[in-house]
Amino acid sequence: MAKVLYDQDINKEVLQGKKIAVVGYGSQGHAHAQNLRNSGYDVVVGLRPGKSQQKAENDGFDVKSVADAVKEANVVMVLLPDEHQVEVYKESIKPNLQAGNAMAFAHGFNIHFNQIVPPSDVDVFLVAPKGPGHLVKRTYDEGAGVPALYGVFQDVTGNAKELSLAYSQGIGAARAGVLETTFQEETETDLFGEQTVLCGGLTNLIKSGFETLTEAGYQPEVAYFECMHEVKLIVDLLYEGGLENMRYSISDTAQWGDFVSGPRVVNEETKARMQEVLSEIQSGEFAKGWILENQANRPQFYATNAKENAHPIEKVGKELRALMPFVKQPLQTNDEKQKD
Ligand code: NDP
Ligand code: MG
Ligand code: MG
Repeated sequence: MAKVLYDQDINKEVLQGKKIAVVGYGSQGHAHAQNLRNSGYDVVVGLRPGKSQQKAENDGFDVKSVADAVKEANVVMVLLPDEHQVEVYKESIKPNLQAGNAMAFAHGFNIHFNQIVPPSDVDVFLVAPKGPGHLVKRTYDEGAGVPALYGVFQDVTGNAKELSLAYSQGIGAARAGVLETTFQEETETDLFGEQTVLCGGLTNLIKSGFETLTEAGYQPEVAYFECMHEVKLIVDLLYEGGLENMRYSISDTAQWGDFVSGPRVVNEETKARMQEVLSEIQSGEFAKGWILENQANRPQFYATNAKENAHPIEKVGKELRALMPFVKQPLQTNDEKQKD
């Protein structure tokens, strides 16, 4: 089994007394900055004027321009959206990095696909929490953490790996366990997971199930419960105890259906498509498409987003969730996301 490290395995000294600039204060940024501060580190937040700046100031942080924050920091964690990192890096980060500093990322995309080519005299490491930022913060506050992957791209001081471990420890990840990786492995598996299973796979599975039932004349409300609402209940069981635990909880009829029908829906053909997606990630083809889409101001992204938001499952879902006060309100709606 791969070696998982925990708090007690980590030497914190390499990060002690260092100033950490957290650049960006969104999902990951607010969690890293607050957890690091609560772990006793000296944190400065780097931002442009705007919404996040206000929020970070209200949370009591010393907020500076990205350039000034980088100037005074020893470790710079880049927590901007991946699509904006290159321009901010060129303009404000690179000119202010000093020899022997460390630059860090929570996802390997821009380093792995050569969008950011770091100067040869700084350490470059990765700490990629395997969960959304809001959980990184919440679990830390509860005394736990979200597991993370750590890795090194460039080690000039001889301390890059220790730094990445100490940083993981500072955000609480080592309470849950941290696992060594490379920028390549983290980037390719992260993209693959979100495209084929977690996001793309799941949303399309849900929509196909809902469409099949409603097209056959069943009520959309019933189809919604079966194909969307109950996903969470099943996922919780998977999360807690894997496939066996989930199958222990469902009826034997459901389990028999799982065995005989599941492999007909997700089959060898599906796996062949997954392999196709994986090779496009590995070859850089996916990255190129996404980079160009951003350079073109995202015409396809926004058109698809609008079409997806208009899917009938979204309409019935909104109505039903309004009747279920125990279902938590979303952190951010898609409409807000579209405006950003
Ligand atoms: P968000 O979109 O949530 O936050 C982005 C932050 O960057 C905001 O505070 C925004 O501030 C700021 N920002 C955007 N553009 C600029 C700019 N030009 N200059 C200065 N600040 C800017 O990002 P995430 O936290 O989702 O992602 C950050 C990194 O973490 C990415 O590499 C991502 O892949 C990685 N990651 C994300 C996970 C997640 O769950 N979200 C999970 C694991 C890794 P403003 O209010 O001014 O726009
Ligand atoms: Mg990702
Ligand atoms: Mg049922």
